[in-house]
Amino acid sequence: MIIDCHGHYTTAPKALEDWRTRQIAALGKPGASVRASDLHISDDELRENIAGQQLAKMRERGLDLTIFSPRASFMAHHIGDFETSAAWASICNELCFRVSQLFPDNFVGAAMLPQSPGVDTASCIAEIERCVNEYGFVGINLNPDPSGGHWTSPPLSDPYWFPIYEKMVELDIPAMVHVSTSCNACFHATGAHYINADTTAFMQCLTSDLFKTFPTLKFVIPHGGGAVPYHWGRYRGLAQEMNKPLLQEHLLHNIFFDTCVYHQPGIDLLTKVIPVENVLFASEMIGAVRGIDPETGHYYDDTRRYIEAAKLSDGDRHRIFETNARRVYPRLDTRLKAKGL
Ligand SMILES: [Zn+2]
Repeated sequence: MIIDCHGHYTTAPKALEDWRTRQIAALGKPGASVRASDLHISDDELRENIAGQQLAKMRERGLDLTIFSPRASFMAHHIGDFETSAAWASICNELCFRVSQLFPDNFVGAAMLPQSPGVDTASCIAEIERCVNEYGFVGINLNPDPSGGHWTSPPLSDPYWFPIYEKMVELDIPAMVHVSTSCNACFHATGAHYINADTTAFMQCLTSDLFKTFPTLKFVIPHGGGAVPYHWGRYRGLAQEMNKPLLQEHLLHNIFFDTCVYHQPGIDLLTKVIPVENVLFASEMIGAVRGIDPETGHYYDDTRRYIEAAKLSDGDRHRIFETNARRVYPRLDTRLKAKGL
């Protein structure tokens, strides 16, 4: 079985984007608010939309199941206030839930949070509980920078984030640490802001003792872990200078990397440097990079090819494709076992 732990609903029907546009237009205009009930997308529309795009690509590439969350760049937590984010997250999560109901063998949800800069993170708990308990979601996406590229929130090791961690531990769900769009002109969203954030999140964990406080907390750092695997010696050396334990002990019981690295040498490096137990298969499609690599003739985000071609044993490949995801997302494992898988 091949589990893709990182997929977003980037191809949602246009009505969703239109609703968001109206929501943003109504900000600051009394009486001009939009309601969730103003959005109309039928099951047939969803079915056709998924079957023709996301699922078609999964079948083409032999992927069985995607952990599916709302479009990351559209989360835009910096827009409006908590109420704005809450309404938007609720609508986006519900749509992913409906997809998971229509295609229960192929999709399971991960929640976008109603984060807003400077707002108490306890405000996210109700949406987490709803998504996990009512929608059967198996993880969340946690945005370490809801300001959208200005980094106004405290580091991930700060108690500011603890209400979310406490709930994650209680529900036994991991968080993918995933920023949204950049509204800072210095940082291109998917090319710089995403990769910066992955690297930054790792370093925030390294310099802290977060996982002493939360020994069972789990983060998936996407996009291959940003710059981290490539600079593993730097991070080992810095940890050593700070008198931290070896990274294996200090971080690798809690931090995992996905395989959204869009070329073979990158995957070769990732799987050579990072223990295989810490690598989860993902492609982040249909998403960040949509084109075809002229050097290979294949889509950049067809990441299964790189894993197949990497120098790995069959057992290690199986860990990356399936068993690591089932370990890191225990609720997913429970669901699959209930289906006899
Ligand atoms: Zn993503």
